[in-house]
Amino acid sequence: MGILPEPLEKLILAFERLPGIGPKTASRLAFFLLRAPMDVSGELADALQEIKNGTTLCSECFNITAACKERCDICANADRNNGLLCVVEEPLDVLALERTAGFSGRYHVLHGALSPIEGIGPDNLKINELIDRVRNGGIKEVIVATNPSMEGDATALYLRQRLEPFHIKMTRLARGLPVGGDIEYADQNTILRALAGRQEL
Ligand SMILES: [Zn+2]
Repeated sequence: MGILPEPLEKLILAFERLPGIGPKTASRLAFFLLRAPMDVSGELADALQEIKNGTTLCSECFNITAACKERCDICANADRNNGLLCVVEEPLDVLALERTAGFSGRYHVLHGALSPIEGIGPDNLKINELIDRVRNGGIKEVIVATNPSMEGDATALYLRQRLEPFHIKMTRLARGLPVGGDIEYADQNTILRALAGRQEL
């Protein structure tokens, strides 16, 4: 038996499982919600429910989109450049690139990177779906915007091999990005520079 009543203990433990939240912050959040008006915790509870039921993956680029839509807003936007495809690891990377307002093409979200150590192979990622998109034609350049990490590098090389038969231009974001860092955490200027200085892969 803990010192705290079980519902409170349960909420603290749930918060502690979230990334970037330690025991102290978890306790602070739980106590905040305990004292907050009912509608504050109610809104949070509703949002947590909806995040699973109200979202799905875009059928084209595999970014997160509203469950009521088959394609995300970027794929549905006729003004975007069809010839330019930016391949990223995670939906958060799309967000980071979109914030720069420096990219007008389309995206493809792999949902991870190759990692033999973690048992993540090509079939665990949206790679075959990417090949299909390229095979369908219209894409002139694939920008590989995987993270500058061992896994990101391995993924970029693998993609180059798989896409070689299609004879399209392949580039990789320039090395302005911190090695081992994540694109989602890079500031807008760094991403813009990396995009502008992308190199042939
Ligand atoms: Zn999409």
